Amino acid sequence: MASDTTMEKIISLCKRRGFIYQGSEIYGGLAGTWDFGPYGALLKENIKNLWWKMMVDYRDDMYRVDAAILMHPRVWEASGHVRGFSDPLVECKKCKRRFRADQVGERCPECEGAFGEVRQFNMMFKTQIGAAEDASSVSYLRPETAGGMFVNFKNVMDSLHPKLPFGLAQIGKAFRNEIAPRDFIFRSREFEQMEIEYFVHPRIWKEKFEEWRGAMHEFIKAVGIDSSKVSELEVPGAERAHYSQRTIDFEFEYPFGKKELYGLAYRTDFDLGAHSKHSGVDVAVQDEESGEKYMPHVIEPSFGVDRTILAILASCYREDEMGGETRTYLALPPVIAPVKAAVFPLLKNKPELVAKAREVYVALKIEIPQVMWDDNGNIGKRYRRQDEIGTPYTITIDFDTLGESGAEKKDTVTVRDRNTGVQERVHMNELSSKIAA
Ligand code: ATP
Repeated sequence: MASDTTMEKIISLCKRRGFIYQGSEIYGGLAGTWDFGPYGALLKENIKNLWWKMMVDYRDDMYRVDAAILMHPRVWEASGHVRGFSDPLVECKKCKRRFRADQVGERCPECEGAFGEVRQFNMMFKTQIGAAEDASSVSYLRPETAGGMFVNFKNVMDSLHPKLPFGLAQIGKAFRNEIAPRDFIFRSREFEQMEIEYFVHPRIWKEKFEEWRGAMHEFIKAVGIDSSKVSELEVPGAERAHYSQRTIDFEFEYPFGKKELYGLAYRTDFDLGAHSKHSGVDVAVQDEESGEKYMPHVIEPSFGVDRTILAILASCYREDEMGGETRTYLALPPVIAPVKAAVFPLLKNKPELVAKAREVYVALKIEIPQVMWDDNGNIGKRYRRQDEIGTPYTITIDFDTLGESGAEKKDTVTVRDRNTGVQERVHMNELSSKIAA
C-alpha cells in the first residue's frame, strides 16, 4: 500500500538523518517514547518559536506561563481527571494481551482468544511524592498542560491585572499511559503540547471561538502543514470531553488515515468553577460594564507538538528525479527548517578554498545562527544530505569565488535552491538577505 510506504519512508528518513529515534533504543526500546536527535530537536524548537510568535508575541492579550509538571493531586480531582480520564480496556483471556476496546473487534487480533469484561483504565501516570508511601503522597504526571494555567489564573490576575478577555499560553510535556501507543509519534505516552486558555465573558464566547479557529488555520499554513489535508470535525455532544460544550477537532490525513491533529474546545466555566469550589479560593472577576461578578469562561485551542511534526513530515516529504537519480527532500518552510543554509568548500583539500569558505560561513553564522558547515564527502553527497534534512539553500565556494576566473566573479558564490536544484551566483555580501528572505 502506498500509504504504508510513505510512513515507512518517513520513519526511515527520521532515523537515518538524526531527527527521531525510538526511545531507549539500545535497550530494545521503551514503547510509546521517542527521542529527538539533533535535527529533530531543532525542528521542534523552530515550531515552538513560531507558535510563541504567532500566538503570544504578535498579540497584546496573551501571556506565557511555565507551570510545574507535578501538581497537587487535588488539581486532577477538581478537573475530573482522577474520575474520568480513562479509556475502555479489554484483556484477552488466552494470551493476556490488553487492547483499547474501541479499537478491536470481538476477538483478540493476536491469538483469536475471547476478551474479558471491558473496564475503564485511567491514563494518568501515578507517582509518589517524597519518601512516604501512603495515599497522601500520591501525585500524577500532568496528562495535559491546561491545569497549570487554570490554577495560575488568579496569580496572573493579581500580579499583572490584565483586562478580560486575555489568555495564558504554555508549552510543555504531557504524559498519558496510552493502552496502545502507535503510528510513530502520533500516539505516544510522553509528548508535548502547546495550549492556550483564553478567558472571556460568556457573552462573547462564540466570537472568540471563531477568532481562534481562524488563528489555528493560520498556524497550520505557516508551519508547513498541507491545508488541503486538514478538515474540521464538529464533535457530537456524546463524544465530547466532560468539560466541553463545543469542540472542533482539526483532523489531518496522515498516511495511516484521517486522525486528530489539534482540538478547539469551549470549556465554559467548568475549570475555574471546579477549582474555585475544590480549593475554596474564589477566582470570579468583576465585569467592567455591569459591575456584576462572574466566573470567566474558557476557549481552549490545543496543539500537539509531535502531531504537528508528523503532519509536517507527511506534507513536506518529496521524491523527484534529479541528475538521473531519484532524490528525496523535505520541502520545509525556511522558518522551521533545522538548518537555514549549509556552506561548502568545493574541495576540502584546497586550503585557499577552505579558508574562503570559512570566512563566508563565519560572517553568515553571525547573522543567521542556524547555518551549518559541511565538507563531508563529495558535493553530490552533501546535496543529498542537506535535501533530506530540508535545508532551503546550499552555498558552494569555488575557484571563481577566489577570483581565478576574473574579477567579475570574485567574491560570488553558488547558491542552490533545495526544491528546484537551480543554482545562481550571489555576491557573498548579499547572502544573509537572500537566505533570510
Ligand atoms: P485522541 O482522541 O487522539 O487520543 P485527544 O482528543 O485525547 O486525542 P486532547 O486531549 O484533545 O487529545 O489533547 C490535545 C492535543 O494533544 C491533541 O490534539 C494532540 O495533538 C495531542 N495529543 C493527545 N494525546 C496524544 C498522544 N498520546 N500522543 C501525541 N500527541 C497527543
